[in-house]
Amino acid sequence: MDVICLQRLKLHRQDAQLRNGKYMRDRADGSSLGSCPKGPGFESQSRFYYFKNKFMKKVAIVVGHTKLRPGACGIDIPCEFSFNQKVAEYLGDICDIYYYDSYNLGYKSMVKRNADKMNRKDYDLVIELHYNAASPQANGCEVFYYFTNKTGKMYAEYMSKMISKVFKVRDRGAKPMIGENQRGYWALFYPKATTLLLEPFFGSNRQDALKFKGKEKEYSEMIRDFLKRTKLV
Ligand SMILES: [Zn+2]
Repeated sequence: MDVICLQRLKLHRQDAQLRNGKYMRDRADGSSLGSCPKGPGFESQSRFYYFKNKFMKKVAIVVGHTKLRPGACGIDIPCEFSFNQKVAEYLGDICDIYYYDSYNLGYKSMVKRNADKMNRKDYDLVIELHYNAASPQANGCEVFYYFTNKTGKMYAEYMSKMISKVFKVRDRGAKPMIGENQRGYWALFYPKATTLLLEPFFGSNRQDALKFKGKEKEYSEMIRDFLKRTKLV
């Protein structure tokens, strides 16, 4: 194996490590790195690599639920889908926005279809937007990450802290998504990029809902700030 080839494999590994704990674990034996192309083939691949990093968006936003099944509807605040669609649209200049097509064939397959689309690109981060609902007393923000993904954990802690600070809600912190019986599990399992699922408040709690009412723009600005601070945009 020549020097360029070794360099390429190193780059490949570093990139994977940066992006996703899951990916790194899956490729731990290096088996799927494949053989290294030499000569002109490698040249063109390396130029493409550069092109992708420079011009393609690094962050994908997924709006949770669908227009027809819009998720929870909080107290005096639009349902999850409408609220988060607005938030996502404010971020359209720096992120690619994804919408789920339909629950008709089930939640898991809907999530997989969308992840398959995203996985054709090379995102560094996927952010899925929701808000919480439970008993009237439950309140605060939490951010989910895939349990083996250390980068995801770090980002989730930071994101939850920022939400809590900016919107003055209780910081419930980063929550690992561990098993398929947890709500939203597949949304964190299928994307190859590090994924966060945001639950910034409880729509079912009057005080929480009031803090976010009409604040779609402010919330999008906070996410923008997070992406800048973490150097993702
Ligand atoms: Zn939801």
